[in-house]
Amino acid sequence: MTRNSFDAIIIGAGSVGCPTAYYLSLEDLRVLVLDSEHSQGQGQNKAAIGGVRATHSDPAKISLCLQSIDLFSKWEKKYGTDIGWKRGGYCYPVYREKDEELLKGLLSTQKNYGLEIDWIPPDDIKGLIPGINPDRLRGGTYAPGDGQVSPLLSSVAFWKESGKMGAEFRFNEKVSGLIIESGRIEGVKTNNGTYYSDVVVNAAGSGARDIGSMAGIDIPVVSNSHEAGITSPVEQFLEPLVVDIRPGQDGKTDNFYFGQNDLGQIIFCYTPAEPFVGEKRSVTSEFMPVISRRLIELLPRLKNSMVRRVWRGLYPMTPDGIIILDQVREVRGFYLAVGMCGQGFMLGPGVARNITSLIINGKPEIEQKVFDSLSFYRNFHSKRSETLK
Ligand SMILES: Cc1cc2nc3c(=O)[nH]c(=O)nc-3n(C[C@H](O)[C@H](O)[C@H](O)COP(=O)(O)OP(=O)(O)OC[C@H]3O[C@@H](n4cnc5c(N)ncnc54)[C@H](O)[C@@H]3O)c2cc1C
Repeated sequence: MTRNSFDAIIIGAGSVGCPTAYYLSLEDLRVLVLDSEHSQGQGQNKAAIGGVRATHSDPAKISLCLQSIDLFSKWEKKYGTDIGWKRGGYCYPVYREKDEELLKGLLSTQKNYGLEIDWIPPDDIKGLIPGINPDRLRGGTYAPGDGQVSPLLSSVAFWKESGKMGAEFRFNEKVSGLIIESGRIEGVKTNNGTYYSDVVVNAAGSGARDIGSMAGIDIPVVSNSHEAGITSPVEQFLEPLVVDIRPGQDGKTDNFYFGQNDLGQIIFCYTPAEPFVGEKRSVTSEFMPVISRRLIELLPRLKNSMVRRVWRGLYPMTPDGIIILDQVREVRGFYLAVGMCGQGFMLGPGVARNITSLIINGKPEIEQKVFDSLSFYRNFHSKRSETLK
């Protein structure tokens, strides 16, 4: 094997690319990871607030995130590296009858796919979220095994451990072309050189569509932007990450969510009622007034929080809100781990395990039927969509 030949090339050192390098290296593959940024995790990975839940309505997301949680939760014990894991669970407090019906209706699917979750009464919710607005609180769901992880620390951890196993990371290298011969991938070209491999994984996040076009395929991934914020640390009082699925009275917000990380900082985010389509990443002046009203209405004790920083990043969205995990039929050896929407960080290790298994064994680790629902060749405009965004 020459210096520029590898067993596998990963395009993108982000939420998906870094754990993929880790799992492929565990299989003794000689791995190259290319990223146009100056270090790992500098794309949308660092925009994530670090929520990691298997509380989904989609079986594939439940299965993949359970695998992610398995890795994240055991990482520190295995490698001695703190990645900010906090097993505080995810809690969905409910104030409306229709939300109660919706969430209770998901429980059997969630449990069938292995998620530990239950409906709990209002008093238990008040215990989990001290100071929550009790007015018309009906109860909610709680999944104790979910949690939080630092996207910054974990991308460094994956990079380090893969590096120890021989993976090479080359930064400031933008992929500008794919080498394809007779329907088979042979390598990639960057601004700095040419690298050869008969396995190439597209894990380019919001750049995935451009990479696809280099292979003559159209990957329906379009960026939406989302804002988030973080406060100064306060004494730990909040175990779970909290999701309020009601749309706001303000007409500007859909659901919103927040939690307290392992350092005591409150992190928060909302889903805009109308998506901000595009790649504009400057923070709006609307975000703080809108989110602070919703936060204080739900949990009045947050009113004196000191906000340290707000930011805006991208969700690489597919039309149905479900990720794409597949091998490309038109170009053998070319794999897609793209369209991670708003959950690429929590899906990362699960996606990585399954793409690795697909490459090595020709089949995924999770149930084949469930995996097939992530196909690049599915109907993206069928009625299916994700209930828990
Ligand atoms: C405000 C906000 C909060 C969020 N919170 C959460 C959360 O709590 N939990 C969660 O799971 N998700 C969250 N997300 C979503 C999450 O950040 C994304 O889904 C995830 O980071 C996408 O992972 P990825 O690996 O596909 O992309 P990225 O992490 O962006 O990685 C892709 C990499 O590819 C590189 N790249 C692109 N094009 C090229 C090219 N041509 N050549 C070389 N390199 C290239 C990029 O530089 C980048 O580093 C949040 C997102 C936002 C904006």
